[in-house]
Amino acid sequence: MAEENKSSLDALSALCKRRGFIYHSSEIYGGMPGFWDYGPLGCELKQNVKQAWWQFTVRGREDVAGLDATIIMHPKIWKASGHLDTFADPMTMCKDCKKLMRADQIKDIYADQKKKPQPKVAGSDFFCPYCGGELTEPKPFNLMFKTVVGPIDDPSNVAYLRPETAQAIFAQFLNVLSTSRQAVPFGIAQMGKSFRNEVTPRNYTFRSREFEQMELEFFIRPDEAIELQYGHVVTLADNPDIDGPVQDDWGWEVWHKYWVEQRKRFLNAVGLPTEHFVEYWQKPDELAHYARACVDIEYDFPFGRQELEGIAARSDFDLSQHQKHSGVSQMVFDDPLKQAAKKLDDAARSAFIEKTKSEWVDRRQKALSAKAGREIVLSAEEVEEIKSAAQKFCLNLFDGKYIPHVIEPSAGVDRLMLALLCEAYEEQRLTDEKGKDDIRTVLHLSPKVAPVKAAVFPLIKKDEAQMKFARDLFEKLRRKFNVQWDVSGAIGRRYRRQDEAGTPWCITVDEQTTKDGTFTVRERDSMEQKRMTTAEFLAMAYEALEF
Ligand code: ATP
Repeated sequence: MAEENKSSLDALSALCKRRGFIYHSSEIYGGMPGFWDYGPLGCELKQNVKQAWWQFTVRGREDVAGLDATIIMHPKIWKASGHLDTFADPMTMCKDCKKLMRADQIKDIYADQKKKPQPKVAGSDFFCPYCGGELTEPKPFNLMFKTVVGPIDDPSNVAYLRPETAQAIFAQFLNVLSTSRQAVPFGIAQMGKSFRNEVTPRNYTFRSREFEQMELEFFIRPDEAIELQYGHVVTLADNPDIDGPVQDDWGWEVWHKYWVEQRKRFLNAVGLPTEHFVEYWQKPDELAHYARACVDIEYDFPFGRQELEGIAARSDFDLSQHQKHSGVSQMVFDDPLKQAAKKLDDAARSAFIEKTKSEWVDRRQKALSAKAGREIVLSAEEVEEIKSAAQKFCLNLFDGKYIPHVIEPSAGVDRLMLALLCEAYEEQRLTDEKGKDDIRTVLHLSPKVAPVKAAVFPLIKKDEAQMKFARDLFEKLRRKFNVQWDVSGAIGRRYRRQDEAGTPWCITVDEQTTKDGTFTVRERDSMEQKRMTTAEFLAMAYEALEF
């Protein structure tokens, strides 16, 4: 985006409304905060973003399978995942204007205000950013939307709209494993709607109440299983080649970094240059208690640097929770691991168990200390508990059994679309042939995601031969990708309409076309024109559209 300020977001949202990318949901009834509809161009862009992700993450790989699960699932899933107990934001209300807001967003809301209110209670630093009134104590507010399944409105029938797509993947892990001919390490991917009753949806589509996610759960072996089978675990310190083929002896750290790099590659491929986003590695005290590492990929939106997506190393937390709450074992059986363990004598097994015990105690102690910001000493009871869990884990490993760990790249469709639109939007100051100042509004979207790939214009409507060639070409192209037909107005105006839609190629059929079959192809960003045949155009377009 040319100018990185609020007004450029206003200009972008005006264009999105005017050209049919994004509308307020239920607009004729006054709209609904946090809900957005995608119009004719927006839904094409969205389809393309999702298809690109699916191609990159699922179809383009041999080790990932897809899933399309329901939005409403058994409520116990949300108990097991922790969403029922802890998926909450701190909410506060102004005692004067009665506005509700997230306590942790007050500073940001205040910064957005044109007129900055002063606190009504002198000296207070916790006051309403809208009117300066006194605020209530923040209270946790669960973000899940509740609904009732069946005709009886009873607490026993309460269910929830999923707040993330990931949990269905864990709940269907065993089914996919047994029906997809995959073995760990492998992934399950899902795209679809998620719902969060965000207290303060804001920044256009960035924080919505209904949105779509694209999530991958990539299941890997615990490092201890790799150690047992290969006698070593590859870590980042070994400087592995993560751009090459994946390797069986990679530990979680390498897999995590591998997926961070894969996600960056994807973002580049759909049009976000690496220098426009940053990798934020969460600090040990910011990590969820079960997470080993988490990277947020952040983008410089016009309203500030914000999370675009996250890549988390979540240990075996999720499947273990589902095992505990469902009573169904989530362990996999790994025969080569069992065969490797068989070769160990009793002394080697005991040494392995002791090493694992001390590593687990050490890891828990370090994680708790990092969270607390001071040295935490575990009680003797806690140490015993960890050691006994480690012993049980090792005995299962010797039998070739373990609960897989997981790396989770989790992205938002709407957030990525917003980033792509912000990145693409430009108002260019040009001078027309008569020397007059002119503004060209253009969306520099990558051809891979652009809603319309090409537009076909016959130069002269009244010329039958031109019209016939152009229409035949249009019919031929539309069977391959999304193409528009435009015969109205001067060519310059037709170009501008397509520039605003982000169409990479405009094809003009003219007098010469009817003689030699070539037409002009005007490239959106450079505005250069080249004569091409249909075959030349298709070869060029296919190359640009391929992943
Ligand atoms: P945030 O801190 O911004 O609320 P989060 O850390 O809770 O996000 P996750 O639960 O990790 O987000 O969700 C994964 C991805 O889903 C996010 O990176 C984002 O792209 C998308 N996402 C999450 N919440 C929303 C929302 N309310 N609106 C649009 N996209 C969202």
